[in-house]
Amino acid sequence: MELACLDLEGVLVPEIWIAFAERTGIDELRATTRDIPDYNVLMRQRLDILERNGLKIGDIQEVIATLEPLPGAIEFIAWLRERFQVIILSDTFYEFSQPLMRQLGWPTLFCHRLVTDDQGRVVDYRLRQEDPKRASVKALHSLNYRVIAAGDSYNDTTMLGEADVGILIHAPDNVIAEFPQFRSVDTLEQLKGAFLDASERDLPA
Ligand SMILES: [Mg+2]
Repeated sequence: MELACLDLEGVLVPEIWIAFAERTGIDELRATTRDIPDYNVLMRQRLDILERNGLKIGDIQEVIATLEPLPGAIEFIAWLRERFQVIILSDTFYEFSQPLMRQLGWPTLFCHRLVTDDQGRVVDYRLRQEDPKRASVKALHSLNYRVIAAGDSYNDTTMLGEADVGILIHAPDNVIAEFPQFRSVDTLEQLKGAFLDASERDLPA
C-alpha cells in the first residue's frame, strides 16, 4: 500500500504568513524562521502583532480567503488523489489554512492549532508534536504504508528522509545543494512524473 505525503506552503499554496502580510500591509508579519530562528519567539511576535492590529480569527480568515492556491495546484491535488491516498503534512494551523483547504477540496491535513478566546482573539497556539512531519511518516510506516513525500524546504527534509522516496519541489538552491539525495523538480507537472516514477504500481499518467 502506498501513500503520498505533501507539504502545503510553497508546494500547493503560497507562504500563508507572507501572503497575509502583503494583503494586510503589516510588514512586520513578513518575518520567518530565517529572520527569527526560534520558532516560539517568532510565533509570540506574530500573535502580538495580530493583537496590536486588532485582528481576530474571523478577520484573518477573511483575508486568507482572498488568497488562492498556486497555479495548477487544484488540478494537481485532484490528479494525485485519483492515484494515491494523500495526506498533507504541514506546519501551518488549521484555522489559518481553512480558506485555502476549501479551495483544494479538503484533502486530509495534519498540522497545528491556534487557540482563540471567546472574543475570537488568537491568544496561543498548540504544536501537535516534535518533528511532526517525520513522526507522521514513521507512524504511517507502522501501519504498513510505503510513503512517497514531497516538500520545498528545510522543514520537510526529515520527512523526506524518513519516506521511502523523498522529492523536492520549488526548493531553493541551497536546500537542493545540501540534500542531493532527494530528486528535485521545478513544477507540479514534473512532480506528477516523479510520483509515477516513485510508485511501485503501474499507474496511468
Ligand atoms: Mg513549505
